[in-house]
Amino acid sequence: MEDDPGVEAELGQVGRALYGSFPQRSRNPVKALDARAMELASQDAELRAALFRFVDVTPACRSLDDLARHLSGYLSEVDEKPPSLEVAMRMAGTKPGRAALGVAAAGGVRHMAHRFIVGESPRKALPVLRELWEDGAASSVDLLGEATVTEAEADRYAARCAEALDTIAEAAPRWPERPQLEADSLGPLPRANLSVKVSALTPHIRPDAPALGREDASRRMRPLLRKARDLGAHLHIDMESLDALETTMELIFELLDEDEFREGPSAGLVLQAYLRESPNQLDSILAWARETPRTPPLVVRLVKGAYWDHEIVEARQHGWEAPVFEVKAECDRNYEELTRRLLDARPAVRVAVASHNLRSISHAIAYNRYSGAEDRDVELQVLRGLGDELGHALAAQGFRVRVYCPVGDLVAGMAYLVRRLLENTSNESFLHEQAMGVPLEELLAAP
Ligand SMILES: Cc1cc2nc3c(=O)[nH]c(=O)nc-3n(C[C@H](O)[C@H](O)[C@H](O)COP(=O)(O)OP(=O)(O)OC[C@H]3O[C@@H](n4cnc5c(N)ncnc54)[C@H](O)[C@@H]3O)c2cc1C
Repeated sequence: MEDDPGVEAELGQVGRALYGSFPQRSRNPVKALDARAMELASQDAELRAALFRFVDVTPACRSLDDLARHLSGYLSEVDEKPPSLEVAMRMAGTKPGRAALGVAAAGGVRHMAHRFIVGESPRKALPVLRELWEDGAASSVDLLGEATVTEAEADRYAARCAEALDTIAEAAPRWPERPQLEADSLGPLPRANLSVKVSALTPHIRPDAPALGREDASRRMRPLLRKARDLGAHLHIDMESLDALETTMELIFELLDEDEFREGPSAGLVLQAYLRESPNQLDSILAWARETPRTPPLVVRLVKGAYWDHEIVEARQHGWEAPVFEVKAECDRNYEELTRRLLDARPAVRVAVASHNLRSISHAIAYNRYSGAEDRDVELQVLRGLGDELGHALAAQGFRVRVYCPVGDLVAGMAYLVRRLLENTSNESFLHEQAMGVPLEELLAAP
């Protein structure tokens, strides 16, 4: 179905209604991060790099003194320091000063991490998952700790995933009824939902030898699929950087093709709209879904992609053409095009639109309505800590929302945290524009 002025009009209404229900504070999510450092980082690339290196090294610091030395070391590389950081540097000159600075810095990092990470273990995360559910939002748990380098780490990750499925599936039946989260027009939706990363299930992901990683990951993924099927849970396979894409896609298609998984579990994959190749990837996904009908259908989560900086640097280092769009508006236009194609492809797939961009989300809702479907026939997904207010606004208006909930300790969560901070302080990020007070009509304008 072609896009239509009717979709733009509906989109405007949806976007304004959602925005109107954000609390005033959340219209400025960078400030709401409660960290002056984050605002400064948005404005100064050198400072931004220094702060991210600091956040990255925090879990490895053995003492507050050590932490303060690292902080002042990184900050000393910044040429023009704002006054608050000059004070921090002066404090680092004495032992008591370093102790105080260390306490403040450790507290700051922990505070930021807790915005994004719901608990140290699935069991400790249960109260948050239940609270979300009671407030009208489903969840997907993600166990932090990416990119394993040994077989033992991969085994350990698989065991943690199995344990997480057991823990969530055991608790979820006790949650109260929430009809808007439990079914769409195609049938029932599992309450328990786990997102997994292929790079954590095998140390052998190599783009030049995809079969090796695929086979190794399969033997750990198969028992997880069986467990999810037996527990009635959903298993979602996240997408990572481009070097893992072929392994991930083929692994999913091969496993879900096996007879024992034809009728479950509910499973899904991710399509990244920042990739220039993503329209062709969607062709392959839809061809596979139509040739391999499943009950329940494959869920496709549409995202823009979290590894943009990595893909650009990698391509430059090798002298390749960037595999990702380099103009943000092109990525956003492609996202909308893929949204429409996915929604038109139902019932071959179920669609989950994952974004914190009010325009992208409102477009999906408007196009879904325009195509005659019910609101519950598109899932809207946000990340814990970044999309909380949007998630609340969507849930309050009766949309089907899922919150992606990272679980793990600070050390395991660091790579995740740095990625979220990079995204949140990028000048082209929607949340950054929203925080800078860009008027609503501009935020909702077609890319
Ligand atoms: C529930 C959920 C699950 C997710 N799962 C995954 C996953 O499995 N794999 C994954 O990779 N990501 C995942 N993400 C992250 C996602 O890919 C985005 O990084 C994030 O949501 C920011 O996009 P946005 O639409 O919210 O915001 P926006 O601010 O509208 O978009 C930011 C995004 O635009 C792109 N971009 C930025 N600058 C440029 C540029 N100059 N040119 C072209 N494109 C640019 C990047 O992808 C960047 O992340 C997930 C997000 C959510 C909400």
